[in-house]
Amino acid sequence: MSFSMHGIAVAQGIAIGRAHLFLQTSLEVTHYAVPAEHLEAEIQRFDRAVSTVRDELQELEKHVPAGAPPEFAAFLQLHLMILNDETLSGIPRRLILQQGCNAEWALKQQMDSLISQFEAIEDSYLRERKEDVVQVVERVLKALSGQPTTLAADHKADGESILVAHDLSPADMMVFKQHAFQAFVTDMGGATSHMAIVARSLGIPSVVALHHAWAMIREGELIIVDGMAGVIIVNPDPLILSEYRLRQEQWHIERQKLKRLRTTRPTTLDGTDISLLANIELPEDVDGVKKSGATGIGLYRSEFLFMNRSDLPGEEEQFNAYRRVAEQLRGQVVTIRTLDIGADKPIEQAPKVHTLNPALGLRAIRYCLSEPRLFLTQLRAILRASRFGNVHLLLPMLSTGTELTQALALLEQAKTELRLEGIPFREDMPVGGMIEVPAAALALPIFIGKLDFLSIGTNDLIQYTLAIDRADDSVAHLYNPMHPAVLYLVANTIRTAQKAGIPVAVCGEMAGNPALTRLLLGFGLREFSMHPAHLPEVKQIILKTSLPDLKPWIRKILQTYDTERLESLVLRLNQQNC
Ligand code: PEP
Ligand code: MG
Repeated sequence: MSFSMHGIAVAQGIAIGRAHLFLQTSLEVTHYAVPAEHLEAEIQRFDRAVSTVRDELQELEKHVPAGAPPEFAAFLQLHLMILNDETLSGIPRRLILQQGCNAEWALKQQMDSLISQFEAIEDSYLRERKEDVVQVVERVLKALSGQPTTLAADHKADGESILVAHDLSPADMMVFKQHAFQAFVTDMGGATSHMAIVARSLGIPSVVALHHAWAMIREGELIIVDGMAGVIIVNPDPLILSEYRLRQEQWHIERQKLKRLRTTRPTTLDGTDISLLANIELPEDVDGVKKSGATGIGLYRSEFLFMNRSDLPGEEEQFNAYRRVAEQLRGQVVTIRTLDIGADKPIEQAPKVHTLNPALGLRAIRYCLSEPRLFLTQLRAILRASRFGNVHLLLPMLSTGTELTQALALLEQAKTELRLEGIPFREDMPVGGMIEVPAAALALPIFIGKLDFLSIGTNDLIQYTLAIDRADDSVAHLYNPMHPAVLYLVANTIRTAQKAGIPVAVCGEMAGNPALTRLLLGFGLREFSMHPAHLPEVKQIILKTSLPDLKPWIRKILQTYDTERLESLVLRLNQQNC
């Protein structure tokens, strides 16, 4: 019987293959009493299982598989942290003693209690971390049952198989990738889950949040995974199958063509040079930047250095990370954004950001100004790294002039400290500001004249303009980059900055969306910063566009308030031969 299921697309591409069901450890565990004289031995059995899992994770950490994404090590560390935490490796020991029960039962009880605590958390990113706890517990249960704990050892693919799982840990995914699975399909997961992040980095077509795929699909059934639409088709009829085989082939041909554009200069048909830069999260991402053909980094999200750890990175550690990136870019621009934590990016070391409405709370520059010593440490590290390349500093989430004045005063203080200590830095390091709060976009003169450049953060600009939590699935359908209000703010920011002679870029997701490339070019944008994976496609559109031909379209688009008409205008603009 043929049927299709809809989930969330997390990694692009089309895969066609046979289902291989990933049999996971059941969390159904038996409960039995352990006589008092055997309790010590039961605790030892539990300890042995924990240390088996610890060895296994540490071993994987030492030999990170080739092709692992930069986040992989951090995910392993997170699982090790969960495993080593008293709540998981200590409390079950006490439960065994107090209740005279078996180790599996004690561990399961403790897991259930932790999960209910996670479920009470408002923040969706943190809530999703409960899956990491479950994955660690499953591994310990496996060790307790005496099953081989070698990750995914019994699952082999023939290069044609599609892995269907209820849930997958990032560690499992890495091993499955080595086993040549060509797509991942899971019941669990969300757009921000670690699984989604790893799938995206690996570039393996994946669909998550399918809810019942594991129960409904049988071993060996033929599946089409459409990683663009977030759809899977099980037992497709021959017509659909041949249609998808064609699409798959076209997709591969298209990818190959795009790869060849790597060294082509992004110039429009009328000869205007466009700057295509990359967004990165960690120094390890620089490899991807080089492969994409980007000519610099327009957004280095420094907060990723602060995540998945219990301490704060000191000045030396930060300096080394920033310097490494600056040196690797050999004179190309490296725009380091100061710490943007809070909202969907909370960090353990900053409990103050966990408020009722964190996106409107102590986030980004607001948090940094409330913790001047922490901010000064970062500013000093960035200044010191400025000598080793073309470093620019970017301030996130500005909304008032006072914030900018205070931030610039702290930057001056950091410079004074370094001068007194005889530590060199680049005195004229350019300083820019993110325009991602509507108030900033509407009152640009507050910032113009005080900053060297602007960068529009469309992800937050959309969130705050439309009052849509960008991390909340239930309102995701309302998150619309093509809302007339958003287009007005983006176009107005670009126009005003250009009139004032201040460089302006877009570094939100809009910059990497090929469906919006012509629109942004028409607004006057000449600098785009995006995930490196999107760069070739955007470049291809730039190469086929003539700027003067865009003018009448843009005039019409900016006067249109009917969403459907607006979308159809943009679609027609993209289809034009201009
Ligand atoms: C943005 O808001 O568009 C942006 C680039 O910043 P982030 O996605 O890190 O909030
Ligand atoms: Mg932002």
